[in-house]
Amino acid sequence: MNKRDYYEVLGVSKDASDKEIKSAFRKLAKQYHPDVNKAPDAAEKFKEAQEAYAVLSDESKRKQYDQYGHAAFDQMNGGAGFDFSDFDFSDIFGDIFGSAGFGFGGGGRRSSNRSRKGADKIMRVNLTFEEAVYGTKKTIHLNVAEECEKCDGKGGLGEKTCSRCHGTGTVTAEQRTLFGAFMTRTTCPSCNGSGSTFETSCSKCHGSGTVSKDVDLEVKIPAGVNTGNQLRLAGKGDAGTAGGPNGDVYLEFYVKDHEFYVRDDNDIYLEIPITIAEAVLGCKKEIPTLYGNVKLTIPEGAATGDKHRLKGKGIEDIHTGSKGNMYVVINVVIPQKLSRDQKKLFEELSKTNLECSDQFKKIRDFTNKNAK
Ligand SMILES: [Zn+2]
Ligand SMILES: [Zn+2]
Repeated sequence: MNKRDYYEVLGVSKDASDKEIKSAFRKLAKQYHPDVNKAPDAAEKFKEAQEAYAVLSDESKRKQYDQYGHAAFDQMNGGAGFDFSDFDFSDIFGDIFGSAGFGFGGGGRRSSNRSRKGADKIMRVNLTFEEAVYGTKKTIHLNVAEECEKCDGKGGLGEKTCSRCHGTGTVTAEQRTLFGAFMTRTTCPSCNGSGSTFETSCSKCHGSGTVSKDVDLEVKIPAGVNTGNQLRLAGKGDAGTAGGPNGDVYLEFYVKDHEFYVRDDNDIYLEIPITIAEAVLGCKKEIPTLYGNVKLTIPEGAATGDKHRLKGKGIEDIHTGSKGNMYVVINVVIPQKLSRDQKKLFEELSKTNLECSDQFKKIRDFTNKNAK
């Protein structure tokens, strides 16, 4: 028999942790469980995954397998492969198929508590730069499932004990597999594991126990949020079933760019254009900050790219409340068009020696050398 590598079956690496192995199996079990997946090869894939998980989730069996491969178990079982019929999958299937349990041995406990948490919702919320910086209030419209009033969320009226499972919520069946016959206990299909059925299905919610409803939520959005930040509104999602808690609503923010300010985390940058004369002579500029205007003295000899820090004029941190900085970035604008008078002045100026750094001489020397 040509068996696939157990790690390959679960799609994990050789050094995968127990947690990774469990979650990989859980995913496969959900995908291929014969109750869910009716594809012809699903049962085989499910069994393959079950076997791989039974080995790799057991420390000593995993060691044997790592050392000898499939041969480790062929020897013990006369070539039949690893026997996992006494393996308890109930904690995994309990999670996936409700608490009614599934599997052999320790599994299959019946629980009358079939309550489930309602679904979470995620909503994208667009904010302007100012709304994000200063905080705001928003009305969020969303559609959530609420408990049906008519049937108290039960889905039906006239509750009675399920005749198929006699109130246990589970049914037992013998399953024959390649690895031997074993008993499985599955959720009762008539009552979905609740142990009871109804005289009539609820006409208002059509048996689901919930009805969808449009709601408006007034939400206070704190100052300092940024694109990708999420705000959790606990219990505002879909109603839980059978007394389970409500799901949550997550607001995910998207902050639009500002026309002038550029945000970098809690710092903001503002480019200020100055004239060539202001750059040479120095100047005083009024700078619009998030918290009103401030005067900034730009010293003589300013150049494009010079950065001036305005401490604490950035954005308030959403957690600590401390403020970032603002940086004023100088952009010296070279005039493209001059009046006759201005041109004359520049010509006068150019007669003076404006070569104010060693770089002029160095480049001249290099140019001369390069000419030969
Ligand atoms: Zn039943
Ligand atoms: Zn109802």
